[in-house]
Amino acid sequence: MKFLISFFLRKIPRKYLQLFSHVALRVIAVFYRGNKVECPVCESRFRKFLPYGRKSRSNALCPKCLALERHRLIWLYLKRKTDFFTKEAKMLHVAPELCFMSRFDALENLEYITGDIESPLAKVKMDIHEIPFEDNSIDIIFCNHVLEHVDDDKKALREMHRVLKPGGWAILQVPFFYPLPKTTYEDKTIIDPKEREKAFGQDDHVRMYGEDYGARLGESGFQVVEERLIDEISLEEKTKFALPEKEVIYKVVK
Ligand SMILES: [Zn+2]
Repeated sequence: MKFLISFFLRKIPRKYLQLFSHVALRVIAVFYRGNKVECPVCESRFRKFLPYGRKSRSNALCPKCLALERHRLIWLYLKRKTDFFTKEAKMLHVAPELCFMSRFDALENLEYITGDIESPLAKVKMDIHEIPFEDNSIDIIFCNHVLEHVDDDKKALREMHRVLKPGGWAILQVPFFYPLPKTTYEDKTIIDPKEREKAFGQDDHVRMYGEDYGARLGESGFQVVEERLIDEISLEEKTKFALPEKEVIYKVVK
């Protein structure tokens, strides 16, 4: 069973997984009934979370809403550190994560827009290099695990800066591979998926971010805030919610 689950989770791209897997996962959830861990996103409890990832991390994926460790941390961050759930705002969610979509969409304070270059889940088909919105028109952007895939991340960042209102903010998470390189590594001549996997950590990544990630975000004019909520959370809660060990939340403000 565990082998089967990790096989499917490894082999099927997440965007497709999100489309059909929640039905199958609902069945799997029955086997994970219990009270040991809790997903703050969908407020469900389980014996443990499902394994997930290329190297199959145990206790990672919520069987009900598909939230991973990082999504659960972001949810707690929004709840505990922001007025996200109450303040009127226009939000653009790029490459939207399924675990957040229906919940964000249901918030009455949000004008919620999803955008993606290919995902059928998103409302607006858009290229992040040319965001189809006016200058200073958006209050909040979420763009997680996208920048490591795009041709020109600096242009994408300038575009997000352009469409955000002054005072608007964005959450821009990317994966990190340890040991972290000092500076972000990219090489446009590497196009073979196997070579990309070796160079950048995954076969569809075009760069590997380094210790300079925060500074790189700042180059497009953003004020960068490295939120370390994880350091404030007790071990008990880290275990209960199965949170990532040391994830920094990269928030940028225009
Ligand atoms: Zn959940």
